[in-house]
Amino acid sequence: MANASEGRAEETGEQDANGEAGPAVFFRVQHSAFGTTLGANKGAANFLDRIWMQAFSSYEHNVAEQTKDLPPLACRKGCGTCCRIQVVATAPEVLMVARYVRAMAEGFRKVGIDLPARLAAASVATPETSGTMALGRECPFLVDGICVIYPVRPLACRGYVSFNEEACVAALEGEADEVPVSESHRTVRALVQGALQSALRDAGHPWALYDLVGALRIALARSDAEAAFAAGTDVFEPAIIDHVSREEMARTFDRLKA
Ligand code: SF4
Repeated sequence: MANASEGRAEETGEQDANGEAGPAVFFRVQHSAFGTTLGANKGAANFLDRIWMQAFSSYEHNVAEQTKDLPPLACRKGCGTCCRIQVVATAPEVLMVARYVRAMAEGFRKVGIDLPARLAAASVATPETSGTMALGRECPFLVDGICVIYPVRPLACRGYVSFNEEACVAALEGEADEVPVSESHRTVRALVQGALQSALRDAGHPWALYDLVGALRIALARSDAEAAFAAGTDVFEPAIIDHVSREEMARTFDRLKA
């Protein structure tokens, strides 16, 4: 059973008892839960941790509920085929990856993996260059087919899962446009991520989506990045990826909340 901060999985269904669309109800529950957490923990030392943990526990719990009857996924350890698309993330996700990279960098360096150097060498995606796997940009955190930031990987990575590895490889090689990804995972990810963004916006924190590589470089270069986020200053602005304009996103959030 989900707790209040996770929202209820069944509300992602088609309709609730009042005939409302399920995803909108789920969004509202998630939005409200994030808003409560943001308000209750404002100024607390673990402010960022609380938001981040809620985002991931909400996603993991609800996606588990929603995907019980789906066929087995093709995703497995050692397959990093899809880790060549642009990864977008919210500010709390970027900041937690930055913490992880700082904490783990020395340990990885001892086994020959230089995380800051890999990040510095990676190409930064832009709205114009983002797109399909055929573009072939490899995520700097993919090492021998394994994600080395797996515990803190963003929602975007968690929500992109496939039923067919061959189709993923074909897409990577430019021989197929479509990968049979799980729509259930994608939908839960989009709703949790959107609700988080909407609650951040209402609470006066940076709420855009950012290119993970570009924003991480900023987070690692600035020791005040977490404090700036808490104070409502967007230090990641140069890395914003607006697949959908923020005005349109804000209108959608307001409509869903109404
Ligand atoms: S962060 Fe990890 S899961 Fe996400 S694209 Fe990079 S290597 Fe893959």
